[in-house]
Amino acid sequence: MVDPFLHAHNVGPFHFDIGGVISPISIKDQMVRGQMIVDRAVEVGLIDQRYHLLVIGAGAAGVTAAIHASQTRNIPTTLVEMATAPFSRQRGCTSRWIDPTQYEWPLNHCYESRYPWDGPPVPLPWSRAFANILARVWMQKKLTRLPGLTVRFNTSVAGHNVIPNGSAVYVQFTSGRPGLYGAIISCIGFGAERCTVNQYSGFRFWDADDFEKPNLGLPPQEKPTVLISGGGDGALQDFLRIVTREPLQGAYDKSPRDIYESLKDFARPLPGNSNDELEVCRNDKRGKEVLLKWAEVENNLQSAEDQAQRAYIWGNKKDHDCKVQKKLHCAYVAAVDRLYEIWDEGGILNGIKARLKGWVRRPLPESVHLVYPCDHFSKCYGLNHLLVLLFAKHLEEEGNKAVHLRPGLEVLNVGPANMALHICAHKPAQCYGVDHEVSFRLRTTCNRSPGRESAREVFNVAIIRHGVNPPPGASIQFPRQIIPYFVSS
Ligand SMILES: Cc1cc2nc3c(=O)[nH]c(=O)nc-3n(C[C@H](O)[C@H](O)[C@H](O)COP(=O)(O)OP(=O)(O)OC[C@H]3O[C@@H](n4cnc5c(N)ncnc54)[C@H](O)[C@@H]3O)c2cc1C
Repeated sequence: MVDPFLHAHNVGPFHFDIGGVISPISIKDQMVRGQMIVDRAVEVGLIDQRYHLLVIGAGAAGVTAAIHASQTRNIPTTLVEMATAPFSRQRGCTSRWIDPTQYEWPLNHCYESRYPWDGPPVPLPWSRAFANILARVWMQKKLTRLPGLTVRFNTSVAGHNVIPNGSAVYVQFTSGRPGLYGAIISCIGFGAERCTVNQYSGFRFWDADDFEKPNLGLPPQEKPTVLISGGGDGALQDFLRIVTREPLQGAYDKSPRDIYESLKDFARPLPGNSNDELEVCRNDKRGKEVLLKWAEVENNLQSAEDQAQRAYIWGNKKDHDCKVQKKLHCAYVAAVDRLYEIWDEGGILNGIKARLKGWVRRPLPESVHLVYPCDHFSKCYGLNHLLVLLFAKHLEEEGNKAVHLRPGLEVLNVGPANMALHICAHKPAQCYGVDHEVSFRLRTTCNRSPGRESAREVFNVAIIRHGVNPPPGASIQFPRQIIPYFVSS
């Protein structure tokens, strides 16, 4: 019988792909895929002591696959990487704090913040940290010294053919000797991010940026006016990073998980805080009620996410996704309203508002505009979804005029506001802090053809998070998946 996991990723004879447009595609998802694909290839006898494994790409997925195959499954393995070192996405990124489980909120394991928290050991274990620190920790594995693993940097695949007896594949490389392999696992990542509009390019997601520095890293006399374009996780994460206060020195303390937990903590009674026993009792009872109702909201969202996921998997065009995402978005808007009701009924609304206020950056940038092309966000994690809507509501209720969610808008062009002073040349650092004129057009739904130019506005920080262009070449047939949260023993 055909192995379903191999079948889903099979893109040619002996050739499997675990990158490209695949989803979900967090680092942890990719590690799970890397391990699973090796296990299944061993189980069906594709790779063994005679038929070796070739892994292409030394990111989190490829390195996991290569170590797992060579060290745990004892399969002689070659890993080729076109860059000079592994983990090129995360290696230079000093500004992204990543967490293996927080985006699996509100599932039980979402506060584990480590991988693995269940199942057998994995090749690259990790806990929440800055991306570059993680890459450094993973690099301590010293890939080039592991027995049974041959690593070639600055190398890619030049071509491959199945040998005449059909038992293996002959692979030529851009440098070094060709070889014979029982399977090729392609782990070349998600491709190129779309951060460019005409001549303008903003920082990529995995670039180091200054968004969380005081005044967004701009000189004190310059007031940041921020455009964030996109409704997916990249845009929502940056919205939260910019709208919330700067991290405290020393340790990062403001991940979405930290923010959400601090709100929940407010409902948890702290008996030591009062001298009056009766008061403690009352708070305790009230806190428990609030937490029970709060859990109901989380359950409803989990249910809405599950329904959306099931529908999303079979979607094929924007129209399909639009309906799914619209319904899901409504569930999040309703959840935020319900939370406000619960906090109010439980007598903790003012306290929660004070906590939210404490999280808001002081001073806020002159303006922050999150624009997205329909009346809902696009595919994004639940925790980002909820927190962005929560901060938007909080700021609106506080009468804040700086932060705006602007649905139904698409960015048409970004160019210098004063062409005599600046030209855009796809150099994000040179454009950062410089006034750019942005033109928009209206969009009423995801699939209806957009209208004409509707407005022009000036921003000195423009963050473009328009998704990704998958890498060229073979891509798998069914890229939308449900993937296990961890590898089973
Ligand atoms: C906007 C955005 C936000 C994200 N946010 C998060 C997040 O918050 N948390 C999270 O966990 N994940 C996040 N991700 C996903 C995460 O970036 C990816 O899942 C992860 O980096 C993919 O790992 P990988 O090993 O599959 O690919 P990559 O890390 O891209 O590694 C691929 C490797 O293959 C090499 N390569 C490419 N082509 C070739 C070739 N032809 N020959 C040889 N080598 C080649 C590359 O140089 C690279 O080293 C985000 C992604 C995007 C786009």
